[in-house]
Amino acid sequence: MKDNQAIKVRFAPSPTGFLHVGGLRTALYNYLFARKNKGKFVLRIEDTDRNRFVKGAVKQIIQTMHWAGIDYDEGPEKGGPNAPYIQSERLEIYQKHAKELVEKRKAYYCFCDPVRLKTARQKQTQEGKPPRYNRHCRGLKQKKVEELKKKKPYVIRLKVPDNQKIKFKDLIRGEVEIDSDDLDDQILQKSDGYPTYHLANTVDDHLMEITHVIRGEEWIPSTPKHILIYKALGWEIPEFAHLPLLLNKDKSKLSKRDLCVSVEDYMEEGYLPEAMINFVALLGWNTKDENEIYCLDELVKQFDLKRVHKGGAVFDLEKLNWLNGKYVRQMKLEDLTHECKPYLESYLKKIEKKIDKSLVNDQYFKEVVKLFQERLIKISDIKGLVDYFFLKEIDYDKKLLIFKKSNLEKTKLGLEKVLERLEKVELKNWEPDNLNAILEAIVKGSDLEPGDVFWPVRAALSGREASPSPPELLEVLGKERSLERVKRALEKLK
Ligand code: GLU
Repeated sequence: MKDNQAIKVRFAPSPTGFLHVGGLRTALYNYLFARKNKGKFVLRIEDTDRNRFVKGAVKQIIQTMHWAGIDYDEGPEKGGPNAPYIQSERLEIYQKHAKELVEKRKAYYCFCDPVRLKTARQKQTQEGKPPRYNRHCRGLKQKKVEELKKKKPYVIRLKVPDNQKIKFKDLIRGEVEIDSDDLDDQILQKSDGYPTYHLANTVDDHLMEITHVIRGEEWIPSTPKHILIYKALGWEIPEFAHLPLLLNKDKSKLSKRDLCVSVEDYMEEGYLPEAMINFVALLGWNTKDENEIYCLDELVKQFDLKRVHKGGAVFDLEKLNWLNGKYVRQMKLEDLTHECKPYLESYLKKIEKKIDKSLVNDQYFKEVVKLFQERLIKISDIKGLVDYFFLKEIDYDKKLLIFKKSNLEKTKLGLEKVLERLEKVELKNWEPDNLNAILEAIVKGSDLEPGDVFWPVRAALSGREASPSPPELLEVLGKERSLERVKRALEKLK
């Protein structure tokens, strides 16, 4: 890197599907590094592998980054000095450089067809050698090459030197050394004229003046090939930082086959972007202090590649849940209600016939959500918790009304007293403290235990064993609906 050169990094996903949690981490670390160093952050789409291309994936990646608050300076939909930022729109640039490499004798045309390649590989395997391209076309004379080019499809391959140690200093892993004898004569340009990842990636990193390549550890084996390309073209080599793998709890590698690896899944489940960013940031990196909660700005301040770990980072869903819960508790009720609303609406639509439609409104949503702010882990949980606030009639087994230390008589008595006392409460006094005091007074003024009063009220109002407290239920359900449910419970007990 030249003195005074501005820091520039990039996130270079291949649009092969939804953004993986590991991809989000790579994007985030690049973003944090750029912001921390007052540099630039580029989004570049590496879509030259047309077999793996998934329609709609680019949009999805951009949306996910936007959701997460990871803003890029240059890239698709934004433009910038090196536009276009989608590799399939830059084919001529790569073709020009592939040609230049051939002219410099650092690369060569290869005309081997699949059958020949396969036979060569089988032979190598039989001989106990690693299957590689046998360099059949490496020594072809210029004249022969010109002749073949007219009749046969070809690829362009990198001329990997023999017996050379290729070294680089990784900012996370330290010295890395790879023997050139372990490398294949890599294809740079495919027979359809498209570049391979290796060529497009290096050419773009150079042209886009990328100073630091921050990417997943799985790309370490590609780095020496990239170094050979930089050297062959006489270009400066960027700095490299390879991020540790993400692991499951049992330390196996977190792969695309594992459940819930796509960020999209977490978005759908109602994880909050702040929690996701906080969680992902600490996958393989730690701050100097012991805190666990960081907003994006704080992460920018603290970010330091030197603190990225070498060892794999365990993806701990419980921690994400814990963090998400923390963020849920901190939200303004209005915002939390806004987040819950789509989940509530789609759930209520499913049970449309059974609900009281007059309750489907923002004000009531807010009152209901308020009771769950302390309990929610992810926003989508709301839909499984609240049906009884909306149902015209709730359905439950009458046994539920009787607390385990109580009996039918006491339960009936408790509910009768509740009904009698609550009927007298004026609407303006229908609020939790007062309602709680009334229930407590019933217990005190009789031989009844709290379980003979509070428990059946909860069951009568919610049809569930666990719910917000009975006074809270009473408040939100309102006087009329609450008394109706208590009456129904008494009927069940007859
Ligand atoms: N296109 C590669 C990927 O999908 C990028 C690797 C790199 O950052 O060099 O992850």
